[in-house]
Amino acid sequence: MKKYIGCDLGGTNLRAAIVDVETGAVLHQMSIPTLAREGHDAVMGRMADLFLQVIQFAGMNKDEIGGVGIGVPGVLDLEKGETLFLPNLPGTWPHIPLQATIEKLTALPTRLLNDVRSITNGEWRFGAGRGVDTVAVFAIGTGVGGGLIVNGKLHLGIGGTGGELGHTTIDFNGPRCGCGNYGCLEAYASGPAIAATGMKAVAQGLTTRLGDLCEYDLNRITPKLIADAALDGDKVAKDIYEQAGFALGIAATNICVALGPRRIVIAGGVSQAGDLLLEPIRRTLRERVHVMPVEQVEVVRSQLGDHAGMIGVACWVAGNS
Ligand SMILES: [Zn+2]
Repeated sequence: MKKYIGCDLGGTNLRAAIVDVETGAVLHQMSIPTLAREGHDAVMGRMADLFLQVIQFAGMNKDEIGGVGIGVPGVLDLEKGETLFLPNLPGTWPHIPLQATIEKLTALPTRLLNDVRSITNGEWRFGAGRGVDTVAVFAIGTGVGGGLIVNGKLHLGIGGTGGELGHTTIDFNGPRCGCGNYGCLEAYASGPAIAATGMKAVAQGLTTRLGDLCEYDLNRITPKLIADAALDGDKVAKDIYEQAGFALGIAATNICVALGPRRIVIAGGVSQAGDLLLEPIRRTLRERVHVMPVEQVEVVRSQLGDHAGMIGVACWVAGNS
């Protein structure tokens, strides 16, 4: 069985791994700085070099590699193999032929997939979504990404754009989101949104240890710092996670009603808060969902950590090439 390369194109780092798609094992991994400010041509050139190097350093030949999958942080046209809008990379990469460029530079069959859809596929195949046929993933970090497995298949929709769960509307009178809509989940539950609520609490003079913990440098308030304070019994900090979990729970309510998922997986850096975040999601589902057997829906943390996307996109290419 051939091995596959999974790549994670991040705003800071460019990572590539050789993946055994039958076991989900990462056989060899390399990481270099993305240096995104140098522009897409330079990044694509470095990416192609990285793929050839990871094959070499793994002691393999190119003919042992079945293909390359690239997890990309943004909106893509999967049919054309182009990037359309990558909000976190300078220049945003409009209509950049990433797939064709990598194929030309490496002579390896290449496919693109959204980064959180890659994580979704990885968690479903080898992580927290294993063994069930319908799964929704919320990945909470700088933004809120999403992905869906429906009836045993990664759901793509038009050009791979289906599954953007962070931009489901949870308050139609809510604030403007970066995407142009109003009241998106992302405005309530992303890492920066959680941190901003903590900053506001300190600025308002609420009774909380957050001010001491950040030494009154509000820029040092992070979701992690708020989680630490909450676990230490800080009521304000705990309420911040209650609010974010409630917002996620409302979005998850809509997903439960639409899809009847067996499992909801919470991924991304903010998911390290664990039950601080997961319990309010579970509670909101129990309170709000009455038309499907919500007690059968498990709400769990992701399991594959940093490797989920690279494993997931490698498996997806293996199953679709
Ligand atoms: Zn939005």
